[in-house]
Amino acid sequence: MPPQADQPLQLMTPVQYLKGCGTARAELLEKLGIRTVRDLLFHFPRDYQDLTELQAIAEFEEGKAVSVLGTVEEVDSSRTGSGGSIVAVLVRQGNHHVRAVWFNQPFLREKFRAGQTVLVSGKPKLRGMRWEMSHPLVKHVEAEGDEARGELLPVYPLTEGLNQHRLRTLVRAALEACLDQLDEVFPEPYLHEHGLLPLREALPRMHFPASQEELERARHRLIYQELFVLQLALALKRAQVRGGVAAYPLEATAKIDARIRRLLPFELTPGQNQSIREISADMAQSLPMNRLLQGDVGSGKTIVAVYAMLVTVAHGGQVVLMAPTEVLARQHVATLERLLAGSQTRIGWLAGGQTAKERHAALAGIASGETQIVVGTQAVISSEIEFHKLALVIIDEQHKFGVRQRARLKYAGPQPHYLVMTATPIPRTIALTLFGDLDVTTLGDRPPGRQAVHTYAPAPEQREQWWEFFRKKLREGRQGYVIVPLVAERKTATPIEEAEEELEQPDFAEQANDGSAAPPMSLDAAYEALANGELEAFRIGLVHGRMSSHDKQAALEAFRRGDIQVLVATSVVEVGIDVPNATLMTIENAERFGLAQLHQLRGRVSRGSYPGYCTLFAGSSTQEAADRLQALVDNEDGFKLAEIDFSLRGPGDMLGTRQHGLPPLRVADLLRDAAVVEQARADAVPLIQQNPQLSQPELRQLRRMVLIRYGDTLELGDVG
Ligand code: ADP
Ligand code: MG
Repeated sequence: MPPQADQPLQLMTPVQYLKGCGTARAELLEKLGIRTVRDLLFHFPRDYQDLTELQAIAEFEEGKAVSVLGTVEEVDSSRTGSGGSIVAVLVRQGNHHVRAVWFNQPFLREKFRAGQTVLVSGKPKLRGMRWEMSHPLVKHVEAEGDEARGELLPVYPLTEGLNQHRLRTLVRAALEACLDQLDEVFPEPYLHEHGLLPLREALPRMHFPASQEELERARHRLIYQELFVLQLALALKRAQVRGGVAAYPLEATAKIDARIRRLLPFELTPGQNQSIREISADMAQSLPMNRLLQGDVGSGKTIVAVYAMLVTVAHGGQVVLMAPTEVLARQHVATLERLLAGSQTRIGWLAGGQTAKERHAALAGIASGETQIVVGTQAVISSEIEFHKLALVIIDEQHKFGVRQRARLKYAGPQPHYLVMTATPIPRTIALTLFGDLDVTTLGDRPPGRQAVHTYAPAPEQREQWWEFFRKKLREGRQGYVIVPLVAERKTATPIEEAEEELEQPDFAEQANDGSAAPPMSLDAAYEALANGELEAFRIGLVHGRMSSHDKQAALEAFRRGDIQVLVATSVVEVGIDVPNATLMTIENAERFGLAQLHQLRGRVSRGSYPGYCTLFAGSSTQEAADRLQALVDNEDGFKLAEIDFSLRGPGDMLGTRQHGLPPLRVADLLRDAAVVEQARADAVPLIQQNPQLSQPELRQLRRMVLIRYGDTLELGDVG
């Protein structure tokens, strides 16, 4: 609908009707996702060129660093007597000139044209009558006329055929025509209380700030708004998921608590006690718990889970404990059996490799209620399982399950409480968002007496030295792992076995297949080489995901008993394996593993009171891989590493928004703006509690934004 001549432009008017736009440019803008005048107003600069601290050539002092804005007047290149080359660019500012020169970089000549506006930074020297800078930094400032007036100049994401100048002109026109039509999102008192700029002030400053401070205030306002709307959407979702759904209230009474603690083999740490308090408070409610327990490798999450399980059992409820690998699930059974020896509690087992008969018997025990705790792999969440009174579901190492397995089962009657655990800590602000429907408990300490793992990423020449040390420690009585990435063809497997096996693949397997590296050693070859070489004198064993579950179990038991001194393994041992006497780890082709995974792996060697040693050998190394390995050498804190991991992978991957189906954020960054995320959440939660429908008239605008942005993806459709 083209606007009538006497009608002013509207926010929703197609951009082509904007002064200076037209159909051809509108088509280009469309490529940037800009269709309406409103879209253009919200097309924010990706950067700014700071022209506020510029010097005048007339005020130059010899040797003092300066930045100067000027116009290219002449470009010249010549040869020196000794056969080198010189590129010289004459830059004019008013009546003054400065000459920029570069030696032996002839290609630079192509970068300059007369008439360009450039920002030149360097240390000037007086040569005769003229200022000269050698090898200055140069930025091309795409500006025309008096645009570059000594302020922060916006730099927009562009598309071919559009330049900065044109886009700036269009944005100015859009601001002029439609700024006063923008509706404020927040009620006036809210802006005031939170020190936020009104939208109509923030928007022009976001595009054309006069100073850095102005820009910061404008950005803060827009970042806050974006995150607040997101947190409102998540809070609405949470209220929706929980509303009206019943669960069995399972209170940890003083009596139950005392009985459980008598069974535990050690004093709990303050962090474990705090986690237990948070979980118990949830489980005592008749609403289902949805809680994420995150804690670094070895922080002692299992015992916290066991506590929750025993509370449930004390109330006559059933528990499901799901682990990503059979090896880990078996270990949980062993831990539980040890703790519950002599008690009446019955533990059931479900996994992919079971015979039909075993499975049938297990299912019968679960249906009758005779089995109180069901442990297993993905097999425990099959819809054919009938429970007697399922009251708690615990998912260990949740990050290892694909989205596919995370799906919840629908049960008739009261819903179970959910506790998911992960040792891949996600920065809290990201967890609050990605798992917006979960509450987060962070187990921040470790059992007493834990030692750090000494981590090395040595050059290949140092191999022999490392193995020398490895053997010395073995002779002292310690044990060790050698980790080799899985490389082999698949055999046919059942879907559950396949899912279990998938977890053995290094996270980075695809990226590593760039052909640059020598093919990594296969597990068998590595085993043979060690058995006949470096570790000839020691008892070594082998474990990988495709062994029969009996063989796997036997190998791990032998390792646990110490009959095997060194276990050569795939990353199947990554999750959960707990053998405190094992303090040595060699990781081959470490470049093939992700950061989080390497941290998990080395967590295997700091389970007891001896210091652990982990050496990462890289088969080949890109800079990116080298940075990853160095990050491990430099950091032992899993939370810190998670942040590094997110930043190494870049912001796109960080949120994984797409993967989680959320629309990408425009101005906010969950890591960088962590403090604002927290604030937005703290503001959003009580607001939704008081106004579950956001139906008050002054919240109308917020409600609209929430529904437009997240209505579909979060299925908020029936709000209001
Ligand atoms: P994770 O958090 O990685 O799952 P685990 O629960 O496997 O860690 O615990 C690691 C080890 O620490 C286990 O051997 C466990 O028995 C031990 N542990 C846990 N809590 C304590 C504690 N409070 N005191 C002493 N040892 C503990
Ligand atoms: Mg664990």
